[in-house]
Amino acid sequence: MSDIKKIGEFGLIETFADKFNHLLDKNNLGIGDDAAVIRIDDDYSFVVTTDMLVEKIHFISDKISPQELGQKSLIVNLSDIAAMGAVPVASFLSVAINKNTSLEYVQQFTEGYLLTSNEYKVPLMGGDTTKSPNELTINVCVIGKIENKRIKYRHSAQDGDIVCVTGFLGDSAAGLSLLYKDEQMQEQYAELIKAHHLPIARVDEGRFLSSFPQVHAMMDISDGIGSDLKHISKASKVSINIDTEKIPLSEKLQNYCQQTNKNPLEFAISGGEDYELLFTVDKDYFNELSLEYQKKFGRPIFPIGTVRAEGESPEILYFHNNKRLTASYGGFDHFKTTNK
Ligand code: ADP
Ligand code: MG
Repeated sequence: MSDIKKIGEFGLIETFADKFNHLLDKNNLGIGDDAAVIRIDDDYSFVVTTDMLVEKIHFISDKISPQELGQKSLIVNLSDIAAMGAVPVASFLSVAINKNTSLEYVQQFTEGYLLTSNEYKVPLMGGDTTKSPNELTINVCVIGKIENKRIKYRHSAQDGDIVCVTGFLGDSAAGLSLLYKDEQMQEQYAELIKAHHLPIARVDEGRFLSSFPQVHAMMDISDGIGSDLKHISKASKVSINIDTEKIPLSEKLQNYCQQTNKNPLEFAISGGEDYELLFTVDKDYFNELSLEYQKKFGRPIFPIGTVRAEGESPEILYFHNNKRLTASYGGFDHFKTTNK
């Protein structure tokens, strides 16, 4: 096993992340959250995020249309801006195309990118275009703006907080499974494939949640809560108990899993790319926030667990109807052999 496989994606980032801290202004935040924070003045900050999509790793060009790919490459970055509670203000797009990429493909890709730019009212303000000897590679950077007092970090979860998510989990991972394994069922479960190709960046929801000081920690779910909860736990130095029976599962996902004899919780916890928001809220404010959210969006927030500050080493424990589950869940990691 190679060294990188052993330490995984996050272990790899940790090998160099701290080496730049001495260059960092104390008001700013560097590596480790959904976006970096760069303070503008006493009132506002910029938040900056970047995400790369590589052909054959993040997408297969005959499974996703170029237009959807254009949409998705911006959406996944907007989701990180949403996770900070910020408003996106600009995007930058870099593409490395190979000799098989047609003009039509690039045009459809940019049509999709424009569609999402219009939807979220974010202008494309720059980028880079180059040739690639191999796979098509897309990198997007989005800059957002936020009031300093509204920034939501991963490191702010507090003892007793309720852990919540903004929507169904697992649909996207099930969509991925339909693309590669259960191809004959694709039509029946087209909604799951759509969840994978065209997730929704919860920018309005993140903005709304960032207006409440009682919302403590927040991030978006890109690798599956099995992995993402660990980031909040580690950054906030807290443990988290998850009540698996409360994890919101769509009817489509449940039907698909019943039909194929699969466990929906595997998709919901260990799958990724749902891009819902994961946040913790003061337990005494949960009911009020829940009502306010429902009033504003016509959809509920879903409480799925609680934060515990006691104990030596932070851990994520899974329960089913108050009974501790022994199964451990992981999330997606680019370098590890298994996702457990
Ligand atoms: P997300 O899933 O929210 O996009 P990632 O898991 O991709 O976040 O990354 C975790 C953190 O590590 C982020 O703060 C990101 O900016 C940082 N990071 C990832 N790769 C690198 C890199 N090569 N150089 C510097 N920072 C990185
Ligand atoms: Mg993120």
